[in-house]
Amino acid sequence: MNRKYRKTIIAGNFKMNKLPSEIRAFAEELKTLVPRARWCETVICAPFVDLPLGMKYLKEARISVGAQNMSEHPKGAYTGEVSGEMLRDLKVKYVIIGHSERRQYFGETDLTVNEKVKAALELGLQPIVCVGESARQRELGLTEALINYQVRAALAGVTEEQIRKVVIAYEPIWAIGTGNTATAEQANEVNRTIRSIIRGLYGARTARATTILYGGSMNEKNAYELLAQPDIDGGLIGGASLVPEKFAAIINAANQE
Ligand code: PEP
Repeated sequence: MNRKYRKTIIAGNFKMNKLPSEIRAFAEELKTLVPRARWCETVICAPFVDLPLGMKYLKEARISVGAQNMSEHPKGAYTGEVSGEMLRDLKVKYVIIGHSERRQYFGETDLTVNEKVKAALELGLQPIVCVGESARQRELGLTEALINYQVRAALAGVTEEQIRKVVIAYEPIWAIGTGNTATAEQANEVNRTIRSIIRGLYGARTARATTILYGGSMNEKNAYELLAQPDIDGGLIGGASLVPEKFAAIINAANQE
Protein backbone atom coordinates (compact mmCIF):
# COMPACT_ATOMS: atom_id res chain seq x y z
CA MET A 1 0.00 0.00 0.00
CA ASN A 2 1.08 3.52 -0.53
CA ARG A 3 -1.44 5.71 1.24
CA LYS A 4 0.36 8.89 0.41
CA TYR A 5 -0.51 8.72 -3.26
CA ARG A 6 -3.59 6.53 -3.59
CA LYS A 7 -6.65 5.21 -1.85
CA THR A 8 -6.64 1.79 -0.17
CA ILE A 9 -9.79 -0.20 -0.89
CA ILE A 10 -10.99 -3.45 0.65
CA ALA A 11 -13.84 -4.71 -1.52
CA GLY A 12 -15.93 -7.77 -0.84
CA ASN A 13 -17.45 -9.68 -3.74
CA PHE A 14 -20.44 -11.59 -2.43
CA LYS A 15 -20.89 -13.35 -5.80
CA MET A 16 -24.23 -15.27 -5.75
CA ASN A 17 -24.35 -15.40 -1.96
CA LYS A 18 -26.33 -13.55 0.76
CA LEU A 19 -30.05 -13.05 0.60
CA PRO A 20 -31.59 -9.58 0.83
CA SER A 21 -32.84 -10.62 4.27
CA GLU A 22 -29.24 -11.30 5.40
CA ILE A 23 -27.79 -7.89 4.50
CA ARG A 24 -28.84 -5.98 7.60
CA ALA A 25 -27.34 -8.48 10.07
CA PHE A 26 -24.11 -8.61 8.05
CA ALA A 27 -23.80 -4.83 8.03
CA GLU A 28 -24.53 -4.48 11.73
CA GLU A 29 -22.07 -7.19 12.69
CA LEU A 30 -19.32 -5.69 10.54
CA LYS A 31 -19.96 -2.28 12.05
CA THR A 32 -19.41 -3.59 15.56
CA LEU A 33 -16.23 -5.41 14.47
CA VAL A 34 -14.77 -2.41 12.57
CA PRO A 35 -15.94 0.70 14.40
CA ARG A 36 -13.86 2.96 12.17
CA ALA A 37 -11.73 2.07 9.18
CA ARG A 38 -9.23 4.85 9.28
CA TRP A 39 -7.13 4.26 6.23
CA CYS A 40 -9.21 2.30 3.79
CA GLU A 41 -12.53 2.47 2.04
CA THR A 42 -14.61 -0.65 2.56
CA VAL A 43 -16.85 -1.78 -0.29
CA ILE A 44 -19.33 -4.62 -0.68
CA CYS A 45 -20.25 -5.69 -4.20
CA ALA A 46 -23.58 -7.41 -3.68
CA PRO A 47 -26.06 -9.24 -5.93
CA PHE A 48 -28.45 -6.85 -7.72
CA VAL A 49 -31.45 -7.76 -5.56
CA ASP A 50 -29.45 -6.95 -2.41
CA LEU A 51 -28.50 -3.46 -3.56
CA PRO A 52 -31.53 -1.45 -2.33
CA LEU A 53 -31.15 -2.79 1.22
CA GLY A 54 -27.39 -2.53 0.88
CA MET A 55 -27.75 1.18 0.15
CA LYS A 56 -29.50 1.53 3.49
CA TYR A 57 -27.75 -0.84 5.88
CA LEU A 58 -24.25 -1.04 4.41
CA LYS A 59 -24.11 2.73 4.07
CA GLU A 60 -25.13 3.05 7.72
CA ALA A 61 -22.13 0.85 8.53
CA ARG A 62 -19.90 3.21 6.47
CA ILE A 63 -19.50 0.63 3.71
CA SER A 64 -19.67 1.71 0.08
CA VAL A 65 -21.87 -0.33 -2.21
CA GLY A 66 -20.98 -1.88 -5.55
CA ALA A 67 -22.62 -4.16 -8.10
CA GLN A 68 -20.93 -7.19 -9.65
CA ASN A 69 -21.78 -6.50 -13.28
CA MET A 70 -23.83 -4.24 -15.53
CA SER A 71 -25.00 -4.24 -19.11
CA GLU A 72 -22.95 -2.50 -21.77
CA HIS A 73 -26.27 -1.30 -23.27
CA PRO A 74 -28.00 1.82 -21.94
CA LYS A 75 -31.57 0.42 -22.00
CA GLY A 76 -34.04 -1.56 -24.08
CA ALA A 77 -34.87 -5.13 -25.07
CA TYR A 78 -32.23 -7.04 -23.08
CA THR A 79 -34.29 -9.36 -20.93
CA GLY A 80 -32.69 -10.12 -17.58
CA GLU A 81 -30.05 -7.41 -17.80
CA VAL A 82 -29.42 -4.48 -15.46
CA SER A 83 -28.21 -1.15 -16.81
CA GLY A 84 -25.67 1.25 -15.42
CA GLU A 85 -28.38 3.88 -15.17
CA MET A 86 -30.36 1.58 -12.87
CA LEU A 87 -27.31 1.29 -10.62
CA ARG A 88 -26.79 5.02 -10.69
CA ASP A 89 -30.44 5.54 -9.81
CA LEU A 90 -29.82 3.54 -6.62
CA LYS A 91 -26.66 5.64 -6.01
CA VAL A 92 -24.42 2.59 -6.20
CA LYS A 93 -20.79 3.76 -6.31
CA TYR A 94 -18.76 0.86 -7.75
CA VAL A 95 -19.30 -1.91 -10.28
CA ILE A 96 -17.08 -4.91 -10.87
CA ILE A 97 -16.40 -5.32 -14.59
CA GLY A 98 -14.88 -8.36 -16.28
CA HIS A 99 -14.64 -10.71 -13.31
CA SER A 100 -13.12 -13.98 -14.53
CA GLU A 101 -16.35 -15.82 -13.67
CA ARG A 102 -18.23 -13.51 -16.05
CA ARG A 103 -15.59 -14.05 -18.73
CA GLN A 104 -15.65 -17.82 -18.17
CA TYR A 105 -19.37 -18.57 -17.72
CA PHE A 106 -21.13 -15.66 -19.41
CA GLY A 107 -19.06 -15.10 -22.52
CA GLU A 108 -17.64 -11.70 -21.63
CA THR A 109 -14.74 -10.67 -23.84
CA ASP A 110 -12.15 -7.95 -23.60
CA LEU A 111 -14.30 -5.95 -25.99
CA THR A 112 -17.48 -6.17 -23.92
CA VAL A 113 -15.40 -5.40 -20.85
CA ASN A 114 -14.21 -2.22 -22.57
CA GLU A 115 -17.78 -1.25 -23.51
CA LYS A 116 -18.95 -1.79 -19.94
CA VAL A 117 -16.04 0.19 -18.49
CA LYS A 118 -16.83 3.15 -20.75
CA ALA A 119 -20.57 2.91 -20.08
CA ALA A 120 -19.96 2.86 -16.31
CA LEU A 121 -17.62 5.86 -16.44
CA GLU A 122 -20.02 7.88 -18.55
CA LEU A 123 -22.63 7.38 -15.83
CA GLY A 124 -20.25 8.31 -13.02
CA LEU A 125 -19.96 4.75 -11.70
CA GLN A 126 -16.50 3.60 -10.64
CA PRO A 127 -15.49 0.37 -12.37
CA ILE A 128 -13.38 -2.24 -10.58
CA VAL A 129 -11.84 -3.83 -13.65
CA CYS A 130 -10.64 -7.42 -13.21
CA VAL A 131 -7.74 -8.91 -15.14
CA GLY A 132 -5.77 -12.09 -14.59
CA GLU A 133 -4.20 -15.13 -16.16
CA SER A 134 -5.09 -18.82 -15.97
CA ALA A 135 -2.72 -21.41 -14.50
CA ARG A 136 -1.81 -22.61 -18.02
CA GLN A 137 -1.09 -19.08 -19.24
CA ARG A 138 1.23 -18.57 -16.26
CA GLU A 139 2.97 -21.90 -16.91
CA LEU A 140 3.57 -20.85 -20.51
CA GLY A 141 5.10 -17.54 -19.42
CA LEU A 142 2.25 -15.50 -20.91
CA THR A 143 1.21 -13.60 -17.77
CA GLU A 144 2.81 -10.27 -18.63
CA ALA A 145 1.68 -10.27 -22.27
CA LEU A 146 -1.87 -11.23 -21.28
CA ILE A 147 -2.14 -8.61 -18.54
CA ASN A 148 -0.77 -6.02 -20.93
CA TYR A 149 -3.44 -6.89 -23.49
CA GLN A 150 -6.30 -7.10 -20.98
CA VAL A 151 -5.49 -3.76 -19.35
CA ARG A 152 -5.04 -1.93 -22.67
CA ALA A 153 -8.23 -3.47 -24.09
CA ALA A 154 -10.29 -2.63 -20.99
CA LEU A 155 -9.08 0.99 -21.01
CA ALA A 156 -9.23 1.67 -24.76
CA GLY A 157 -10.91 5.05 -25.20
CA VAL A 158 -10.89 5.87 -21.46
CA THR A 159 -9.84 9.50 -21.07
CA GLU A 160 -7.28 10.99 -18.70
CA GLU A 161 -10.13 12.50 -16.71
CA GLN A 162 -11.99 9.18 -16.49
CA ILE A 163 -9.04 6.97 -15.54
CA ARG A 164 -8.98 8.63 -12.10
CA LYS A 165 -12.22 6.82 -11.31
CA VAL A 166 -10.97 3.39 -12.40
CA VAL A 167 -9.84 0.74 -9.93
CA ILE A 168 -7.99 -2.27 -11.31
CA ALA A 169 -7.99 -5.68 -9.66
CA TYR A 170 -5.36 -8.27 -10.50
CA GLU A 171 -7.07 -11.61 -9.99
CA PRO A 172 -5.13 -14.66 -11.16
CA ILE A 173 -7.79 -17.18 -12.14
CA TRP A 174 -5.85 -20.01 -10.49
CA ALA A 175 -6.08 -18.20 -7.15
CA ILE A 176 -9.81 -17.43 -7.15
CA GLY A 177 -11.78 -19.60 -4.76
CA THR A 178 -9.00 -22.22 -4.70
CA GLY A 179 -7.10 -21.36 -1.54
CA ASN A 180 -3.96 -21.01 -3.73
CA THR A 181 -3.13 -17.39 -3.03
CA ALA A 182 -0.44 -15.80 -5.15
CA THR A 183 2.65 -15.12 -3.07
CA ALA A 184 3.01 -11.52 -2.01
CA GLU A 185 5.93 -11.20 -4.46
CA GLN A 186 3.99 -12.71 -7.40
CA ALA A 187 1.01 -10.45 -6.76
CA ASN A 188 3.13 -7.35 -6.30
CA GLU A 189 5.08 -8.07 -9.48
CA VAL A 190 1.92 -8.16 -11.62
CA ASN A 191 0.45 -5.12 -9.86
CA ARG A 192 3.70 -3.27 -10.60
CA THR A 193 3.40 -4.33 -14.25
CA ILE A 194 -0.16 -2.96 -14.35
CA ARG A 195 1.05 0.33 -12.89
CA SER A 196 3.74 0.58 -15.55
CA ILE A 197 1.12 -0.03 -18.27
CA ILE A 198 -0.96 2.81 -16.81
CA ARG A 199 2.18 4.95 -16.68
CA GLY A 200 2.77 4.30 -20.39
CA LEU A 201 -0.83 5.19 -21.23
CA TYR A 202 -1.53 8.11 -18.89
CA GLY A 203 1.76 9.24 -17.35
CA ALA A 204 3.59 8.84 -14.06
CA ARG A 205 1.33 10.96 -11.90
CA THR A 206 -1.81 9.04 -12.88
CA ALA A 207 -0.05 5.69 -12.45
CA ARG A 208 1.04 6.68 -8.96
CA ALA A 209 -2.52 7.64 -8.05
CA THR A 210 -4.25 4.51 -9.41
CA THR A 211 -5.58 2.00 -6.90
CA ILE A 212 -4.63 -1.54 -7.94
CA LEU A 213 -6.08 -4.38 -5.89
CA TYR A 214 -5.15 -8.02 -5.57
CA GLY A 215 -7.81 -10.71 -5.47
CA GLY A 216 -7.60 -14.49 -5.18
CA SER A 217 -8.04 -16.36 -1.90
CA MET A 218 -7.10 -13.33 0.17
CA ASN A 219 -8.00 -14.09 3.76
CA GLU A 220 -7.45 -12.99 7.32
CA LYS A 221 -4.15 -14.91 7.45
CA ASN A 222 -2.41 -13.72 4.29
CA ALA A 223 -3.88 -10.20 4.00
CA TYR A 224 -1.26 -8.48 6.13
CA GLU A 225 1.64 -9.67 4.01
CA LEU A 226 -0.11 -9.00 0.69
CA LEU A 227 -1.20 -5.51 1.74
CA ALA A 228 2.29 -4.64 2.94
CA GLN A 229 3.52 -4.79 -0.69
CA PRO A 230 4.12 -1.39 -2.28
CA ASP A 231 1.94 -1.93 -5.37
CA ILE A 232 -0.97 -3.76 -3.70
CA ASP A 233 -3.46 -1.07 -2.73
CA GLY A 234 -6.13 -3.32 -1.29
CA GLY A 235 -8.07 -6.48 -1.99
CA LEU A 236 -11.02 -7.90 -3.87
CA ILE A 237 -12.24 -10.64 -1.61
CA GLY A 238 -14.75 -13.38 -2.38
CA GLY A 239 -15.12 -16.19 0.16
CA ALA A 240 -13.66 -14.37 3.15
CA SER A 241 -15.96 -11.37 2.64
CA LEU A 242 -18.99 -13.49 3.53
CA VAL A 243 -17.87 -13.98 7.12
CA PRO A 244 -17.86 -10.70 9.09
CA GLU A 245 -15.00 -11.76 11.42
CA LYS A 246 -12.75 -12.69 8.49
CA PHE A 247 -13.63 -9.63 6.44
CA ALA A 248 -13.09 -7.39 9.48
CA ALA A 249 -9.64 -8.91 10.03
CA ILE A 250 -8.72 -8.07 6.42
CA ILE A 251 -9.97 -4.49 6.86
CA ASN A 252 -7.90 -4.24 10.02
CA ALA A 253 -4.84 -5.49 8.12
CA ALA A 254 -5.43 -2.63 5.66
CA ASN A 255 -5.61 -0.24 8.59
CA GLN A 256 -2.17 -1.28 9.80
CA GLU A 257 0.11 1.60 10.73
C1 PEP B 1 -13.23 -13.04 -6.30
O1 PEP B 1 -14.23 -13.65 -6.58
O2 PEP B 1 -13.04 -11.92 -6.78
C2 PEP B 1 -12.28 -13.66 -5.36
C3 PEP B 1 -11.10 -13.10 -5.22
O3 PEP B 1 -12.70 -14.76 -4.70
P1 PEP B 1 -11.94 -15.52 -3.50
O4 PEP B 1 -11.47 -14.47 -2.53
O5 PEP B 1 -12.96 -16.44 -2.91
O6 PEP B 1 -10.78 -16.24 -4.10
